[in-house]
Amino acid sequence: MGQACLFCQISSGQTSTEFLFENDTLVVFKDINPAAPVHLLIVPKKHIRSINDLTEADQPILSEMIMVAKELAVQRGVAESGYRLFINVERGGGQVIFHLHLHLIAGWK
Ligand code: 5GP
Ligand code: ZN
Repeated sequence: MGQACLFCQISSGQTSTEFLFENDTLVVFKDINPAAPVHLLIVPKKHIRSINDLTEADQPILSEMIMVAKELAVQRGVAESGYRLFINVERGGGQVIFHLHLHLIAGWK
């Protein structure tokens, strides 16, 4: 999708968004409008619109997203206290950016 998609622009490094993690498959950055003290977005570099558009071939991407989320929870110091992982799917599910992403939120007292 490229230029028309904000998360394609961010994940390909075309913006000033700081990455907390990056590898060949995905990037992690802070949500611009955090819903909790820790609010990270785990975003594949491949443009996939939503969970509805996943194919069998995308399975390794999804599993990597979860494994990286687990590592980031440790890195941000919230693994033991706990965190929430969620994916909004299409408008009715609260999705606003139509490029697949996993939310990691944590840090409530
Ligand atoms: P969705 O509702 O699509 O699951 O979540 C999209 C998330 O992306 C929202 O929590 C929103 O705050 C975040 N977001 C939207 N635009 C930007 C941006 O330009 N930079 C960052 N870091 N986050 C963004
Ligand atoms: Zn995209």
